[in-house]
Amino acid sequence: MEFAERLKKLGSENAFNVLGNVMELREQGRDIVSFCIGEPDFNTPENIKKAAFDALNKNMTHYGPCGGLPVFKRTIADYISRTRKVNVDEKNVCISAGAKAIIYYTIHALLNPGDEAIYPNPGYPTYESVINFVEGRAVPLPLLESKEFSFDVNTLKKLVTKKTKLIIINTPQNPTGGVLSKEDLNAIADIAISNNIFVLSDEIYSRILYEDEFNSIISIPGMAQRTILVDGFSKAYAMTGWRLGFGIANKELTGELANLENNCVACTTTFNQFAGIEALTGPQDSVDAMVREYKDRRDLIVDLLNDIKGISCLKPKGSFYVFPNVTKACRNLGLKDSEELQDYLLYDHGVAVLARTSFGEKNKDETEEYIRISYATSKENIREGLKRIKKAVEK
Ligand code: PLP
Repeated sequence: MEFAERLKKLGSENAFNVLGNVMELREQGRDIVSFCIGEPDFNTPENIKKAAFDALNKNMTHYGPCGGLPVFKRTIADYISRTRKVNVDEKNVCISAGAKAIIYYTIHALLNPGDEAIYPNPGYPTYESVINFVEGRAVPLPLLESKEFSFDVNTLKKLVTKKTKLIIINTPQNPTGGVLSKEDLNAIADIAISNNIFVLSDEIYSRILYEDEFNSIISIPGMAQRTILVDGFSKAYAMTGWRLGFGIANKELTGELANLENNCVACTTTFNQFAGIEALTGPQDSVDAMVREYKDRRDLIVDLLNDIKGISCLKPKGSFYVFPNVTKACRNLGLKDSEELQDYLLYDHGVAVLARTSFGEKNKDETEEYIRISYATSKENIREGLKRIKKAVEK
């Protein structure tokens, strides 16, 4: 069967493929500890579910405007104005079925074929996939373990050309847990402003931060006009299956994002949007409790990883991922790379992790091997999974 050529350019998120393998093994009766999917193990807080039930009972089940209900847009604008110390109003908000949709819309709205977009590598795979899909040129910005998975500013400067239209950043980051410092954000802002480049700032993990205050590039003077801030409800409020996210952009671009939505899903589920209002305006103690628990788990998993011969792991400041260096473990086991380690751990030892290459091809000169472990799972699973990894690696 002949499909359109462009499909050959589209990638996919490997986490879902590995999750498929986990399901298959479990169906065969295998006991698998899964660290592969980036999804909170908590349930959505009760007050948020109740808001959705109430909206359903009031028959909020009809189409809504593309880009979102005005009342929800205003709630989001208030939330962003307060938390990012920037003035935005409802005309700057586009609500979507998940933050992922805003990434897709933004890249479609901004890139012509041949335009360049710089994106973090390792990074969330959707960026590179969609840049390629629109026939843009995907330019990886290496994230370095030696810089706690931030980047080298000089490298970023060198990657910018006359064709650079977009820089994508993600803080706290998937898959490394790295957090961009104020200095790094200032450096990116300088480069963006002086070269007239847009910045897509993926802030989906902004609430899952353990040490410092959250810093957003949109707060830097001169950046509000050229930033597309991406955020949503999946991670902070344990609402992955609701599919609820949003983008903040200048008014003109917001209109284009809403028109892309018009052509795609028309609008975001109406009663979900009332749940989103409750999430942002209701009590926040369940978010605080989840973040406290993630922090405990982070400390536990980092200690357990550093206790394994051949593995070393930095302590990430945010998100719910660790990205340990497994180079020595691979060598000791005679494995070529992290992909072979991923398979060895899954099929021989019943632990699902993701290889570094699930987050982009290795950068030029990159010699180390890494895996991503999502610790959005119980401490019991973490202890059991890490026991298995230790046994597998130190055998
Ligand atoms: N951005 C990053 C960095 C992510 O890790 C994810 C989900 O894993 C998303 C965006 C998408 O989130 P949503 O569920 O809101 O589409």
